[in-house]
Amino acid sequence: MNDVHPKIYLDYAATTPVDPRVVETMLPYFNQLFGNPSSVHTFGQLAEAALEEARESVAAVLGASPAEIIFTGCGSESDNLALRGAAFSARQQRGANHILISPVEHHAVSHTAAQLASLHGFEVELLPVDPYGQVHPQAVADRLRDDTAMVSVIYANNEIGTINPIAEIGAVCRARGVTFHTDAVQAAGYLPLDVDALNVDLMALGAHKFYGPKGVGALYVRRGTSLTPVITGGGQESGLRAGTHNIPYICGMSRALQLAVEERQQRVAHVQPLRDLIIERVLSDIPSVQLTGHPQQRLPNHASFVFEKVDGNALLMMLDVEGFACSSGSACKTGSPEPSEVLLSTGFTPEWALGSLRVTLGVNTTREQIDQFLDVLPGLVERARHLTGVVE
Ligand SMILES: *Cc1c(COP(=O)(O)O)cnc(C)c1O
Repeated sequence: MNDVHPKIYLDYAATTPVDPRVVETMLPYFNQLFGNPSSVHTFGQLAEAALEEARESVAAVLGASPAEIIFTGCGSESDNLALRGAAFSARQQRGANHILISPVEHHAVSHTAAQLASLHGFEVELLPVDPYGQVHPQAVADRLRDDTAMVSVIYANNEIGTINPIAEIGAVCRARGVTFHTDAVQAAGYLPLDVDALNVDLMALGAHKFYGPKGVGALYVRRGTSLTPVITGGGQESGLRAGTHNIPYICGMSRALQLAVEERQQRVAHVQPLRDLIIERVLSDIPSVQLTGHPQQRLPNHASFVFEKVDGNALLMMLDVEGFACSSGSACKTGSPEPSEVLLSTGFTPEWALGSLRVTLGVNTTREQIDQFLDVLPGLVERARHLTGVVE
């Protein structure tokens, strides 16, 4: 990090730095209030008090009751518990075998569904999406069946930023009595999270996407929603997630979520004009480029593009050399890149999809950083095009 160029971080959708106020909240629980909340003695009682306070705080943000919050080890684990838990339970209770998911899910959902299909014989059906990657409620209504075990649709997509009409899709599922899960891991930092307004039965969160620590998440489980546990052992988390509680991380997550809600308006007001500037300038200054995701209904910190005849990974490396940390849908550190399934599902050809770039902003992003980024990007895209042997 001591190059000639100061490093500029434009990858907040991958992860965020932990807010110093969150670090402060976490510190006492490592070595002072270090008890196991399952212990009977005072050390345990103090840890349990912290745990239940964190649970109440997360529940309050979601408009839920504390008993409906299950703490997990990450956003991925929350998605795994939602899918496996609801699928196995629905099969056991009513022989349901059909799972509906969107084609723009995070791998934590799509790969879990794929395993439910390949190892456990569930029938996984992909919903259609429009060219912006949005799922239409009618498409869900048309595909719900009596043997549908559950439906999962991502709230806001990590790759293309598109926000889905979760409340409307939830209403369709509710009317048919089918369990509805949303992956809100990327959405939580910026979008409303009231679970009743959203009509969700299950909702996954992960702390490190909103200035909390990595390695902790939560799953909202609506009262009456039946889940089969994935991690079995002790009876923690109402028997739904065994394992000694990670109190410092859970307290950090709860504090980070509080701050995200308290400061949401300022954070949106900070990043959205910078995002709009990036989108406007990239589309006007660079030839053969398209915005990916929805032009309006997208995360306020999220700009994403595909460039024709560009190797997205080469572009990322050039940006890194210039001091800019961005991301690409086809990011692959180990060799031959595969085009992103999300981009393919929204109708891009593999050639276009391989030239993707994602720029995501956060609380520490400045106008100066974006100006510098916009100054270098057109030249780098042109260089990347020459690299692939295409001279226009
Ligand atoms: C980051 C992310 C996840 C995974 O969360 P982890 O806490 O990193 O496991 C799941 N879904 C979406 C949409 C994400 O952005």
